[in-house]
Amino acid sequence: MQRRHFLTFAAGLPLGLQAWAAGDARSPTPAIRLNQAGYLPGAAKQAKVAGAKAGNFRLCQANGQVVWRAPLSGPSQDDYSGDLLQTADFSAWQTPGRYFLEVPELGRSWEFAIDTRVYDRAWYLTMRAYYGQRCGCEVDLGPEFAAYRHPPCHLVTAYHPSSGRSGAPHNHGGWHDAGDYGRYIVNAAVATATLLWAYELYGQRLEARKLDLPALAPQDADLPDMLREIRWNLDWMLSLQDRDGGVWHKQSSTHFCAFIMPQDDHLPSEIIGTGKPPYKSTAATADLAAVAAIAARVFRPYDTAYAAQCLDRAERAWTWAGRHPRVTFHNPPGITTGEYGDQQLADELLWAASELWRATRKRKYLQYFLAHAEPFLGTSSAQPQTRRIFPKGGQFDWRTFVPPPTGISDHTPLSWGSVGPLALWSFVLSEPASGAEDAMARRIIAQTLASADAIAARTRKNGYRVALRAQDYVWGSNGVAGNYALQLLLALRLDTMHASTPVQPGPRQQAWITAAGDQLHYLLGRNTFSLSWVTQLGEHAFRHPHHRPSVADRLPLPWPGLLSGGPNAHPGDPRARQGPPGPPARMYVDAWPAYSMNEVAINWNAPLVFLLSGLPQS
Ligand SMILES: [Zn+2]
Repeated sequence: MQRRHFLTFAAGLPLGLQAWAAGDARSPTPAIRLNQAGYLPGAAKQAKVAGAKAGNFRLCQANGQVVWRAPLSGPSQDDYSGDLLQTADFSAWQTPGRYFLEVPELGRSWEFAIDTRVYDRAWYLTMRAYYGQRCGCEVDLGPEFAAYRHPPCHLVTAYHPSSGRSGAPHNHGGWHDAGDYGRYIVNAAVATATLLWAYELYGQRLEARKLDLPALAPQDADLPDMLREIRWNLDWMLSLQDRDGGVWHKQSSTHFCAFIMPQDDHLPSEIIGTGKPPYKSTAATADLAAVAAIAARVFRPYDTAYAAQCLDRAERAWTWAGRHPRVTFHNPPGITTGEYGDQQLADELLWAASELWRATRKRKYLQYFLAHAEPFLGTSSAQPQTRRIFPKGGQFDWRTFVPPPTGISDHTPLSWGSVGPLALWSFVLSEPASGAEDAMARRIIAQTLASADAIAARTRKNGYRVALRAQDYVWGSNGVAGNYALQLLLALRLDTMHASTPVQPGPRQQAWITAAGDQLHYLLGRNTFSLSWVTQLGEHAFRHPHHRPSVADRLPLPWPGLLSGGPNAHPGDPRARQGPPGPPARMYVDAWPAYSMNEVAINWNAPLVFLLSGLPQS
């Protein structure tokens, strides 16, 4: 009788709530939405509660003992999801432990932790996911993830005729880009740079962290694990630099393979060029110059010879890009893998100059930066730019969407096609050398801080406390949220970097920290689906990424540590178009064919790793 009562009650509820209502009343309800990893003791702690006109909530230890009771606030409507939400605020409770929330009318939440090291596991999984993406070697995630392994893949290589070469290159390595097995310099660059920046800014916290990587290569013996993993991709990127300094755009098969394991994909992995002289592209070459310059700085304390090699490669790439500043890339005929066809190259060139100035202090890079930075300043208007989200009607490949290059604003954050913010931030992170630079640096810092204020204010007003606007629910919206968080942490760094002693954050800085944490809470479960968007993290994580190994291995759970692309108001594939028609934050399905909503990608994981690396552990 009781069960029948539940089923009748459940019929009027959304699907997730029905599943709960039909089950054990002690099993967690998706109506209570919180960060399933948990919260730092000193941080703001809020859960969102949907579908109840409830009065009170309880905070319970994992053994069921109630430690805190308080009224729910609200309700208020969240426009982006349509949800009517109440808030359970338990910020005042700081005692470490494992907990769940209980709302008498609804049930209990997923279990979570309060602890100063609460995000160590998330960092480990999301950074180690890059090891899982390795190409060209055996991968084995070890005893904890016993069946997650594959033998070496994609060892059959070739120069595609569009590269200007023939025969086969002797290269392998790098990370599979996303759900496919291609490797693309432009996207690899923004992902690798984001990770290197995380290490450069927060290395003290990261140096001793372990990733349980396989047996050491001799040249890796003295490297921190995070840099060992980054080097795996850097070495492949360097292998795409030609003798003349130019860099080929990508290495992939001619078309996407089926949903098979990487070792079963026998299509040759081909170095692909522009099809006519000079064959290499400006975007790939400038991006490599920037990334290799960062690498030269970051690796210098550990491996001076490698750092010197990176710097030499970066400067040769810069020289090539100076000779060929306008070579864009389009997939040559017969190639249908990811294009990353950035047509606007000013931001890539500015970024390369800025990173090289910081790495070398050579005046030529400073002069280039000062002469070309102006178009990227003064774009902090709160008005979003009109931008083409996707072509009308037809098929949409997210790799063909390129946001216009922008500077630092509270909208259109950093992305693979828009690296202007990295150029500006790298410049201000350098030691200033003259009055003119000081003036420009002050403008960049002011813009960064004002943008952070706007992002934080918008986050506070949002029902789920995420910075995403309606326009941000694009392909990879979870990566957009991650990059807003990156921006908030950069503001914190720029605002405090000249202090001689550590400063206690004031209310303004605290607002940025809280908002950065809010993006994390959204990604790890405080969202309309009550879903952790990182595989195998949290009690209720998404399970069906568009990720070939996760589908082909037939294991019950996907490969760990991968961030879903997330809701997309412009569904670009047939399965996604069968999903909810709106509102934007609800336009998501956890189904592997829905690549425009549920693919994973190295450039979306990277800002999440950055956030987990840099969020102050208060
Ligand atoms: Zn591979």
